[in-house]
Amino acid sequence: MTEQHSDLLVVGAGILGLAHAWAGIKRGLSVCVFERSHTPLGASVRNFGQALVTGQAPGPMLELARQARGLWAELGQAAGLSLRQQGSLLFARSEAEEHVLEAFQRGRARELGYRTELLRGAALAELYGGRFGHHRAALHGLDDQQLYSREALPQIVEYLRGLGVQFHFSTLVRDVEPGRALTTAGRFRAGQIVVCSGHDYQTLLAEQMAALKPQVTRLQMLRVRLEQPLALQHAVLTGLSCVHYGAFSDLPEADAVRAEIRRDCPALETHGIHLLASPTPNGELIIGDSHDYGSDAAPFNDEGVDRLMLELAEHTFAGRVRVLERWQGVYGARGPGPFSVLPVAEGVTAVLMHTGLGMSVGLALGERTVAGF
Ligand SMILES: Cc1cc2nc3c(=O)[nH]c(=O)nc-3n(C[C@H](O)[C@H](O)[C@H](O)COP(=O)(O)OP(=O)(O)OC[C@H]3O[C@@H](n4cnc5c(N)ncnc54)[C@H](O)[C@@H]3O)c2cc1C
Repeated sequence: MTEQHSDLLVVGAGILGLAHAWAGIKRGLSVCVFERSHTPLGASVRNFGQALVTGQAPGPMLELARQARGLWAELGQAAGLSLRQQGSLLFARSEAEEHVLEAFQRGRARELGYRTELLRGAALAELYGGRFGHHRAALHGLDDQQLYSREALPQIVEYLRGLGVQFHFSTLVRDVEPGRALTTAGRFRAGQIVVCSGHDYQTLLAEQMAALKPQVTRLQMLRVRLEQPLALQHAVLTGLSCVHYGAFSDLPEADAVRAEIRRDCPALETHGIHLLASPTPNGELIIGDSHDYGSDAAPFNDEGVDRLMLELAEHTFAGRVRVLERWQGVYGARGPGPFSVLPVAEGVTAVLMHTGLGMSVGLALGERTVAGF
């Protein structure tokens, strides 16, 4: 039997795999994508869908996120995604958090061109009819975007299929070697193979991946409804993100936020909690962002973690919430840098995220890898 040939063979239909497939088909390559599940079910559909520029550390992540911003706008329009482009709001709840935002706004934001504005006083009081008036300040990140990933990923698949990308779902790739992939649907040949297998470090290229000493982190996630409705249009973060995201975490003012967390609620640090919230198209919120690091993801959810995040959400949105759904998300974490692009062998490249920002930078990583072929 003749083996089917394509110019580009991609393993994984998460955002990284789809980014590479899109970059390839745009350049006129023949592209096929292999995904072991029947539809994308990994980190890329379990997340907040926040494509953030504002939180990115200066350097490669900021550059990638800026490039990805334009790509999301292009893909959003082409694939008919409901992409929110009103930006993000990061609420400072304490003086220490407010000081970080002030320092960021007058220093780093100006120097490096982050497009942000600090809302206080009347500007904050007017936001959403005064719903957030109990906060001290809000950093409005103008470049941030957000989508509902569980709907967006299948929509991107359909869009790419329409462009001619061949998808092989429910098909595991067992092995890759230069020019060839062995799958549960047989052997396939390809000029270039890109492995975007997310946090699966064992099925493919296990030795090369082990050398990166990657870990995973497990996040508890909730979909909730506010009892007092709010037509939220922004991605929401809180001052706790100031110690989590690289745009803020190395500012000297962030130390006071760390000290405040340790003094007032050390469990937030223990569980790596910083509240994020994203609106769904149905008027609900996705909330979460706890972090449990390790070599494997434990299956057990800690109710105390959910309770802490629900309390934070109720304070942030000044209203009670009702839980509709809970799930776990897992992503690749703590490798040698925020991501790896590994030339494994002639025509075989592995592209992996080691931090929870693949929705923000993934489209740009795909462009860059494929442009380098
Ligand atoms: C709860 C949560 C919230 C997050 N929130 C955000 C956010 O708001 N903004 C942001 O920028 N980032 C966020 N992230 C991070 C982001 O989702 C990830 O960085 C990104 O989705 C990683 O994409 P990926 O394609 O590498 O992995 P995945 O989406 O996990 O995709 C990998 C795919 O490869 C498939 N696969 C693996 N091995 C094989 C094989 N051998 N054969 C066939 N198929 C295979 C898997 O089945 C899977 O579908 C979040 C992550 C989580 C878990």
